[in-house]
Amino acid sequence: MAIDPTSATLYAPCAGNVVALQAAKHAVTLRASNGAEILLHVGVDTVAFGGEGFEAHVVQGQDVRVGDPLLTFDLDGLAPRVRSLITPVIIINGGGFAVVRREQQRTVRVGDFLMELQSLGETASSGAVVVPGPEIRKYLRVPYEHGIHARPAALLAAALRGFSADVSALAHGRKANARSAVAWMELGVQRGDEVMVIAIGPDATAAVAALEAAFAAPPAPRVIRDPAVQADERALRGVVASRGIAVGPAALIAGEAPLPSETGAGVARESADLERARAFVRAQLEKLHATTTGLAREVLDAHLSFIDDPELLQTAQAWIARGKSAGYAWREAVEESAKALNAVGDSRVAERADDLRDLAAQVLRALAGDAALLDPPAGSILIGQELLPSQLVGLPAGRIAGFCTAAGGPTSHVALLAAAMGVPALGAAGPRVMHIAEGTPLVLDAEQGLLRIAPDAATLAAAEKALVHDRSKRVAARAAAHSECRLASGERIQVFANVGALADVRVALEHGAEGCGLLRTEFLFLERDTPPDVEQQTETYQSIVSAFAGRPVVIRTLDAGSDKPLRYLPLPRGENPALGVRGVRASLRNPELLREQLRAILRVEPLTACRILLPMITDDSEMQSVREIVEDLCRQLGSATPLLGAMIETPASALGADRLAAVADFLSIGTNDLAQYTLAMDRGESELAAHLDALHPAVLRLISISAAAARAAGRPVAVCGGLASDPLAAALLVGLGVDELSAVPSVIPELKSRLRSLRLDDCRELAERALEAASAAAVRALAVDAGGN
Ligand code: PEP
Ligand code: MG
Repeated sequence: MAIDPTSATLYAPCAGNVVALQAAKHAVTLRASNGAEILLHVGVDTVAFGGEGFEAHVVQGQDVRVGDPLLTFDLDGLAPRVRSLITPVIIINGGGFAVVRREQQRTVRVGDFLMELQSLGETASSGAVVVPGPEIRKYLRVPYEHGIHARPAALLAAALRGFSADVSALAHGRKANARSAVAWMELGVQRGDEVMVIAIGPDATAAVAALEAAFAAPPAPRVIRDPAVQADERALRGVVASRGIAVGPAALIAGEAPLPSETGAGVARESADLERARAFVRAQLEKLHATTTGLAREVLDAHLSFIDDPELLQTAQAWIARGKSAGYAWREAVEESAKALNAVGDSRVAERADDLRDLAAQVLRALAGDAALLDPPAGSILIGQELLPSQLVGLPAGRIAGFCTAAGGPTSHVALLAAAMGVPALGAAGPRVMHIAEGTPLVLDAEQGLLRIAPDAATLAAAEKALVHDRSKRVAARAAAHSECRLASGERIQVFANVGALADVRVALEHGAEGCGLLRTEFLFLERDTPPDVEQQTETYQSIVSAFAGRPVVIRTLDAGSDKPLRYLPLPRGENPALGVRGVRASLRNPELLREQLRAILRVEPLTACRILLPMITDDSEMQSVREIVEDLCRQLGSATPLLGAMIETPASALGADRLAAVADFLSIGTNDLAQYTLAMDRGESELAAHLDALHPAVLRLISISAAAARAAGRPVAVCGGLASDPLAAALLVGLGVDELSAVPSVIPELKSRLRSLRLDDCRELAERALEAASAAAVRALAVDAGGN
């Protein structure tokens, strides 16, 4: 692994003894207590400085503890003079060790976990580690999209039939009998994890080879099958950032923004250069802004607000005044602000730091006279280290078929944008992406997470066929999106859209939304210094309700707190804000703010189209308190009381859904929070993102209880959390008794077409089995088997 340093001191990543300190003081080797020898080497070609700019804090033979400073280097002085200050961390006696886990693609602090080594005891050969005696060990990487769920587990266990060797699998510190499908599933491994298989016995080698072959042939559905492709030269694995399949020639993304020289050519000249570059970028952003909607527009809004930010400009000017170049000054100013934003520890704020860095790159390119937007050939697949959101947004609609980057993950801004734009994309495909030549034919399979390089004619033909099939399915779904949605067995299921702003309504209607099942009103309240007044709120709600032209609109009251703090609303911010004052709790503590919002909603016409939904309900007393306020206001305004619903987002509200259904007119299940609180996994914790799956049987049981309670009380029950936007989950939700879904607009056509193919009896049977399943992975496998992919 390697560290891209953000400070000038290299610290010991573990306790050990300094066995070597290079004369040029640019590299240190530590021997850890388990015998691993770890070389930490600052930068590339830094030996050439002969120690200039480096200061050692240790001597050879010294014992160090984790976090002790090893050496300091002149980061600013060296950076412009070397190719890179990236610091490789290399296990030089690596044959005896295996990396069991490692951190990648993220910021780490001194003392944070970097990697875990496992001593293999004996010598190794490349790939397989052979230990004397009839024992074979090998690391295999999990290729299955949803980890080792039921079907891969069965396949792996079956692969060992006929062998006599004793075979086990190790991962995450757990050991499984490799002949047991259940044991494989209980390892809880996800795609990309490494599993060590150990076989002991006379046919150990053949048994491991059989497992390896099984790993190389993922049994995923909707697959262009090519078992040979897993480990060969012609395919790269990546993480699915935006689903879909694309076929086209490679087009290279221009490299990183040029590194600016540090020294400037005088204050007047550098200030003028910066002004010119900013004006250029501003004009480009404004042009794009005029023709963009939705999430892409939000990104451009952020960039436009930063380009003229007075603090950024002031900091940049201060650097210029100290003799630095415009580019250097701008980059420093942006980095300073981005670090400050990251330090806030709020994921929404940290996203803005990414926007800032994107903007910095645009200005640096403009300064270097290389400010053209990307202009790849039509139908190509972009490849490169990373794709910046501004680069994606700047492409003409439909220009690229997809993209695959060496870095980036499924939750990055550009991934969300790609998903919103319907562009198939893979991230984290590793450095080999950079070796693909311009024009190379590619198949981007962002269903399975594979980039096939220069595939043979048969693979290409299969991919093209899959693509055509996919497209025609999508066209048919779009064409039928506006018709009423009934199951194949005749039951009516309503499909609504989740909306965050007026701009989303057009998209929702185009995709066949029957109304709005969740209007998140937060957007009106966030990122401002005072709350919006009643008039402003009424105007906004009215414009959205009018745009829905008589269709129902569920307006959720302010869901502030937790990851959505408000500057003007001092909520207690404890250690654990997700368990603190948020949602309806925050509203009831600030009754005037709540009354103002309710007053604004009650003024909307026609009020019969509006329903009010309360977030983060725990018990019926909260519901009752808000109902009293609503009824009081209605009396004052002489209006009828609109329907009042409770969100089921906590285990308490699900388990008490019978009491809630007695006081609420409808229930709406927020599976994002319900999963977070049921599984005790923070929504913002990227480490747990792969495990935070609302298809977990425990979450499904709570949905089942809520739906049954609503039904018994004769109340409708909807799902408006992320699970409603997953077509794979549609059959399960229907089977659990849900009668309305509210999804992100773009998936509505696919969702409706999926619903039309279902029979209620089958859905109920599937749901029964899912409630008894062992894990979310097992539920997914059941849903896939039921044809839900
Ligand atoms: C949910 O929690 O599922 C939900 C819809 O609310 P939000 O995602 O806005 O918290
Ligand atoms: Mg929620």
